[in-house]
Amino acid sequence: MAKTKRSPRPSAGNARAGRAQGERCPVLIGGGGFAGLSLAIALRQALGDSFKVVLADPALGQSHAGDMRASAIAAAARRLFETIGVWPDVAGDAQPILDMVVTDSKLQDVMRPVFLTFGGEVEPGEPFAHMIENHALIDALTRRAKADGVELRTSAVAEFQHRDSNDRIDVTLGDDEMISANLLVAADGARSAIREAAGIKSFGWDYGQSGIVATVAHERDHGGRAEEHFLPAGPFAILPLKGRRSSIVWTEQAREAERIVALPDEGFHDELERRFGLKLGDIKAIGPRRAYPLGLSVARTFVAERIALVGDAAHVIHPIAGQGLNLGLRDVAALAEAIVDAARLGLDPGGAGVLERYQRWRRFDTMAMGVTTDGLNRLFSNRSDVLRLARDIGLGLVDRVPALKGVFIREAAGLAGEVPKLLRGEAL
Ligand SMILES: Cc1cc2nc3c(=O)[nH]c(=O)nc-3n(C[C@H](O)[C@H](O)[C@H](O)COP(=O)(O)OP(=O)(O)OC[C@H]3O[C@@H](n4cnc5c(N)ncnc54)[C@H](O)[C@@H]3O)c2cc1C
Repeated sequence: MAKTKRSPRPSAGNARAGRAQGERCPVLIGGGGFAGLSLAIALRQALGDSFKVVLADPALGQSHAGDMRASAIAAAARRLFETIGVWPDVAGDAQPILDMVVTDSKLQDVMRPVFLTFGGEVEPGEPFAHMIENHALIDALTRRAKADGVELRTSAVAEFQHRDSNDRIDVTLGDDEMISANLLVAADGARSAIREAAGIKSFGWDYGQSGIVATVAHERDHGGRAEEHFLPAGPFAILPLKGRRSSIVWTEQAREAERIVALPDEGFHDELERRFGLKLGDIKAIGPRRAYPLGLSVARTFVAERIALVGDAAHVIHPIAGQGLNLGLRDVAALAEAIVDAARLGLDPGGAGVLERYQRWRRFDTMAMGVTTDGLNRLFSNRSDVLRLARDIGLGLVDRVPALKGVFIREAAGLAGEVPKLLRGEAL
């Protein structure tokens, strides 16, 4: 991404500036992952055809079949997808998580005692989360965005400049197209070039760990059970997918993860089986496997003049609680609500009022989640027997107090705190 150019206003003879003034839209979204697409759809549905939404991403329409990741979609996020009409399209591919068990042991231990169990409903008939493969969800979001008239551009946000009058932001796309918007939304992921060009710093650290992701086919039914095994190198999560398959997220030190991923199939299978166990019968890793470097990173501010950050562009957290995408959807729901409320009153959708409201709504919640996942990872990714005893007592206590468990389930479901409308299942 080229660096941000703030003023001067392009001269009248500048062809780019002329085009920028011709093509105008209230909201331009850079990034067509879960966050960008969901926001675009929510805005179009709430504000109708007269509210033009442009979404630019060079990867739009590319096949995601090689992405083996699957996500735990919390109940609140599912309500958002239901409200924007995406859930019916993917419900058949989604596996409800019916219960969850947590164990804490050494790798060589024969028995993995269960310290915590969760029953899986937030309301009768509504599981606290579903598992869905990322490619199925992205494809459904892309289809919905097209059907709802989101203007999709297969190019990157390359450059932007603020007007002297500060009433708009002029954005140049990778194919040299220029668009003048009231608001530029950075939904361009963890390495957000828009965030960098806007001069927004992030704080955080690299965990020195990677999450190995693979899909495992097994002989027996998982019964909708999710398992989180806390092993000395970090959590090993087994998350149920449709059919006799599970998605694993397996945390290891980065070097060890690289080694494991590069093993021939037989060697990989042996390492996998030591952790996965034999409860579900014979297992077989299917499809590609990949290690994702893990870190914590939170932007120092979620907004700048006529710019808002959402999703991983604003924050990246450890997948220990499967909450990264869910957190991004909370941004989407809050920003959509702030924009829609302002636009209905005839106010500027990229004005200071919208941005301040969004920032107030999201910063604290994000910090809280960042600190929680960081603390959990530190507490559980270590080899100290003393710490193990202390945390096992803690898990055992939570397990015996139903009210406390209820609080955790609502947190995990994304239904605690000041929940934006879309996450409550209400249309904007
Ligand atoms: C191992 C692992 C497991 C995880 N498991 C879970 C889970 O179970 N539950 C959960 O909630 N979360 C989970 N997460 C987190 C989740 O995957 C991310 O939070 C989520 O994918 C972020 O979505 P996003 O739309 O913000 O960004 P992304 O999905 O990264 O999308 C960003 C998009 O921006 C585009 N882009 C980049 N640069 C530009 C540019 N200059 N202009 C325009 N477009 C651009 C890219 O092409 C991309 O399509 C997990 C993460 C990892 C690593």
